[in-house]
Amino acid sequence: MINYGQALGIIASTAAPLPVVSVALSEAAGTVIAADLPCPSAVPPFDNSAMDGFAVHSGDTNGATPANPITMRVIGMVMAGETPGGDQNEPRTAWEIMTGAPIPAGYDGVIPVEQVEIKRDPTGKPVAIQLHQQVNAGRNLRCAGEDFAKGDALLGAGQLIQANQIMGLAATGVREIQVRMPARVAAITTGNELTDTNKLLEPGKIHDSNGPYLEAAIASVGAASAGVYRTGDSADELIERVQNLQDKTDIILTTGGVSAGRMDFVPTALEQLGADILFHRVAIRPGKPILFARLPNGTLVFGLPGNPIAVAVGLRFFVVPAMRQMSGQQPEQYASAVLAEDVRKKAGLMFFAKANARTDNTGKLIAEILPGQESFKISPLMKANCWAIANADADRLTAGSVIKIAPLIAHD
Ligand code: AMP
Ligand code: MG
Repeated sequence: MINYGQALGIIASTAAPLPVVSVALSEAAGTVIAADLPCPSAVPPFDNSAMDGFAVHSGDTNGATPANPITMRVIGMVMAGETPGGDQNEPRTAWEIMTGAPIPAGYDGVIPVEQVEIKRDPTGKPVAIQLHQQVNAGRNLRCAGEDFAKGDALLGAGQLIQANQIMGLAATGVREIQVRMPARVAAITTGNELTDTNKLLEPGKIHDSNGPYLEAAIASVGAASAGVYRTGDSADELIERVQNLQDKTDIILTTGGVSAGRMDFVPTALEQLGADILFHRVAIRPGKPILFARLPNGTLVFGLPGNPIAVAVGLRFFVVPAMRQMSGQQPEQYASAVLAEDVRKKAGLMFFAKANARTDNTGKLIAEILPGQESFKISPLMKANCWAIANADADRLTAGSVIKIAPLIAHD
């Protein structure tokens, strides 16, 4: 049986890059940029004021104090969205200026409106100001290109575009971006016992929880859902469903039917479809029977075991790494936390545990592995706020040791 690292290696050497498409900025959130993007224009585009106030020549303010105020004529006004009318630039004068308005040529500092005494004409327009302090060159100025310089690296290939990136892309005037198409992912749950949530259970049956889970989770990891389906314990039904889906999907997930029981027909069905089985069984818990295959058309198949937590682990720690690779993202880096209590684990199996992370009163991050780690138990997952990941070797984890933690769902 291979270990988790080996399984990731096989996934990395199999998952091919997704096609590149051009999308408008308004459609880019949640996609991954396909090529390095240089900044098309400087931000701010021009020197402008950081305050509502008066633009002055810093040199004119030398020596201004409350005891020795300096008076200046106000010779113009400029609002955000305007340009300074005319090109008046006289010594010992000031311009009234609003936040974001361009600095009139030759002026080099802004004193905020609250810090001057203003003399107004009968209409309320400032005609002169009195300064009680010196204004240094550059004060309250935002200089052209200070945030983004034209030609700077704006985003690098493989970066995920989220709202924060959209802000910078919009500011610099990026209209269209080359991104990777989101992976098209379909799921097929299998099992004669499975019943729709909206139907009453007959004896021996259970509600299908993997289907609705995957429907929600596929969207939250940034994939494009190609639908969630269900079959009975039948190779023929599964083969037919996969044949229908394979040309519309990059990844097909199946749940159930992949262990070693009599009804575990998923490997057989995939073989009949001509798939290459790239691994089957990995030294992890939960989810050991997991299978990874590639269909003749290139679509990847993850055969996840039926137990719900094995499905969550399979999606989080096998499918997400494959999707990251396909969209050109770097492998994820996990954070660490200190384990709260001793925990027993199965030696030789890497352990993905439903956990809670919190900071203690010294600011240290503490991870608590929740009771109920059996792979059929969903209730602890509903209370978990992260996964804790323990290496295969140990048969027990000791309180105070450091353990890796991962967000429940990753799309960053
Ligand atoms: P299997 O991998 O098919 O042997 O299933 C393992 C366990 O997971 C069995 O107890 C199944 O009833 C359960 N199971 C399989 N599929 C689902 C599903 N879609 N929703 C909830 N439980 C399931
Ligand atoms: Mg089954």
